[in-house]
Amino acid sequence: MYVRKGHNDMNNTKIEWCDSTWNPVTGCYNGCGYCYAKGIARRFGLHGTERDIEKRALDIPAAKAGKKSPYPFDFEPTLHRYRLDEPQKLKKPRTIFVCSMADLFGKWVPDEWIEEVFTACEKAPQHRYLFLTKNPQRYAELHKKNKLPLLKNMWYGASVTNYLQAEQTNRALGNCQEANLFLSVEPLLEDITKYDSWVQLCFDNITGWVIVGAETGNRKGKAVPKNEWIDNIIDDCDYNDIPLFMKDSLIPIVGKDNMSRDFPWKTGQEAKQE
Ligand code: SF4
Repeated sequence: MYVRKGHNDMNNTKIEWCDSTWNPVTGCYNGCGYCYAKGIARRFGLHGTERDIEKRALDIPAAKAGKKSPYPFDFEPTLHRYRLDEPQKLKKPRTIFVCSMADLFGKWVPDEWIEEVFTACEKAPQHRYLFLTKNPQRYAELHKKNKLPLLKNMWYGASVTNYLQAEQTNRALGNCQEANLFLSVEPLLEDITKYDSWVQLCFDNITGWVIVGAETGNRKGKAVPKNEWIDNIIDDCDYNDIPLFMKDSLIPIVGKDNMSRDFPWKTGQEAKQE
């Protein structure tokens, strides 16, 4: 998960599949090499750590507390509690990507922080909320504890870019099929469709949406997806009637006229819960 712009402003995002980003929690320990969020936190500044996670729950903006940086604990997971009411201030419905600068469902995030975020979402039901994690097992754990809201406007996504993630995601999402679920295949690094767990996710009607995109940036050795990897995803989604959103990064490979830009709530497939 990353955002290049608008890290604390719900008006600005370049992410194509949402209207806004909202970051009540920032910071992450997943350590992805391509993480833009970490760069943003670092660019703004102060590099500090705080072992006591309770002290990383901020009731007022860091600047008001005399800190020089909006990220006083660098990229350490931090709850910005003062941002929780931001969705309520926006009357016009938006599709909001929650925590583009964190993995809200990372193992290190306390249940209480996640619950505070869910409560804030429920207080502003005019919006649609998209969550995304590399640890979908947490969805299943929360669901088991009756802590995962099963609401029409809440969508829970998992990153699936390799065999291990496909396996973990299949196991986890299979246990919370009552929720609205989606897969993010970004960056597309290989033919993900060759794995049995991918097949189950698509053919067993578990995922309700697929987003796919190529690696961006100028990294040496950057993976360029093969046409056939993309075709296979298109075929699987087509066959199973799964809305598919292809990101602009695929245009150079497939061409502008071959892009699918489906959203489940626009193709009548929303939603499992009322
Ligand atoms: S999961 Fe997202 S926020 Fe966390 S390190 Fe990876 S790209 Fe960054």
